[in-house]
Amino acid sequence: MSVQSVLEEIRERPGSGEVIPIIDPATEEQITEFTDGGAEAVDAAVARAKATADSGVWKDLAASKKAKILWRIADLIDENAAVLAGLESLNAGIPEFQAQTIVEVGSEWFRYYAGWCTKLDGIAHDVATTGLTGVESRLHAYSLKEPYGVVGLIFPWNGPVFNYCAKLAPALAAGCSSIVKPAEETPLSALVFDRILAEAGIPDGVVNLVTGYGHTTGAAITAHPDVEKVAFTGSTEVGRAIVHASADSNLNKITLELGGKSPVLIFDDADIDTAIMYAGIGTFVHSGQACVCGSRILVQRSVFDRVVAGLAQFGDSLQLGGPKDEGSMIGPLISKKQLNRVLGFLDDGKSDGVEYVTGGQRLDRPGYFVRPTVVTNVDPATSRLFKEEIFGPVVTVLPFDTEEEAVALANDSTYGLAATVYTKDLGRAHRVAKRLQAGTVSLNCQLVFDHSMPFGGYKQSGWGFESGRAGIETYLQTKFVWAQM
Ligand code: NAD
Repeated sequence: MSVQSVLEEIRERPGSGEVIPIIDPATEEQITEFTDGGAEAVDAAVARAKATADSGVWKDLAASKKAKILWRIADLIDENAAVLAGLESLNAGIPEFQAQTIVEVGSEWFRYYAGWCTKLDGIAHDVATTGLTGVESRLHAYSLKEPYGVVGLIFPWNGPVFNYCAKLAPALAAGCSSIVKPAEETPLSALVFDRILAEAGIPDGVVNLVTGYGHTTGAAITAHPDVEKVAFTGSTEVGRAIVHASADSNLNKITLELGGKSPVLIFDDADIDTAIMYAGIGTFVHSGQACVCGSRILVQRSVFDRVVAGLAQFGDSLQLGGPKDEGSMIGPLISKKQLNRVLGFLDDGKSDGVEYVTGGQRLDRPGYFVRPTVVTNVDPATSRLFKEEIFGPVVTVLPFDTEEEAVALANDSTYGLAATVYTKDLGRAHRVAKRLQAGTVSLNCQLVFDHSMPFGGYKQSGWGFESGRAGIETYLQTKFVWAQM
């Protein structure tokens, strides 16, 4: 399989709706196109998935055999790493060296969850109880962990390989049948995965790819009466629509990994140079299009000017460019729509009188490139730049005087995805970590990740978890069995 063959293959995907162009975000040129799958493609995919779920062909396969197949998928991802990384770069504008890392993390999802296939055990009890009847009985009670039948896996454009693996690996390990829908901007790598799954021995119909728009194809998945669970990663706005769809259809179970506006707190006793470097990477990586990017940096007043200057210098030092451009460190925004959204925020800031210490505009070249932007003089009570998720290379930097004030500013958000603290004071680090309203808190580090650690959001950043034991639990339901002795 090659990048070129995937660009051709996607044109043949089933669909009945609009033709959707796929644009290279680094050049603004169309690279291929495909047809929106729509409700018809979803109905066919769900019928296939339900038939395999009912047959037990995957669910009831011996756990050790499932595990072997997941390991094989991981190995095949590694063997196809060049094509996957090439597509990730071309389609999402991610520099090649980062795309390779993402693919390596992707195969590890399958190795990690392969281990869980054989460990999905319940509990057992011998119980003597009168229950609600008043008659004392001796009972044996046990619980079973059972997969949902058909699950819908819907994810965004900002890391297609990462998101595919993060959802499908636990769904397969749990024994579910899946409908997979990548974002309309970045469906290409999913075609490679389809081949990998077949070669690894996943039975036909267990994983069913559908491609298309969210409001048509995605919405058809979430409203389908045979879809028992939806695992979604994307914006809070669409997350809300998915909750409505569940309420209006079959009350399917939902997990949501949503947006963020993550604070980074830098105290004056921190190793300031290290904090600037990590905060810079944590803010501008992938042009700010990672959900955990630090986008509100709060700095103790005595080191405020130094940190602002350091961040601006760091941002200026990052070479923007297409994945194939020599020395390129960060790529473009994903689409014209996203570019216009980010520029809209920057325009708003200009009329609000904020100060752009660096950046603030797009690059004068083809491609959706926005310069790393550091913003100060922001009113936290009113500024959209401070309050809303921009999902671009834009960071607001605010001063604080006391720990109390820093925590209050950090928690002043409807989001609660991630937060970071830089300080050498161990007591303060743990005290502040406890008070921050976020699903992940990093102390003196940023963008750290491991498959074994549960990841999820507080407040409007999500419901439930991904990764770790908690991640696979979301694809399982628990049944209790009572047996009269
Ligand atoms: P999005 O919400 O617009 O789209 C995400 C997916 O949902 C796409 O596949 C899209 O086609 C689909 N979709 C859109 N409308 C739908 C509908 N009505 N019903 C069903 N599906 C629908 O998000 P995006 O712009 O692709 O991605 C950026 C967002 O994702 C940001 O908000 C970012 O914070 C978030 N994100 C969160 C995490 C996390 O783990 N918390 C990770 C990555 C990205």
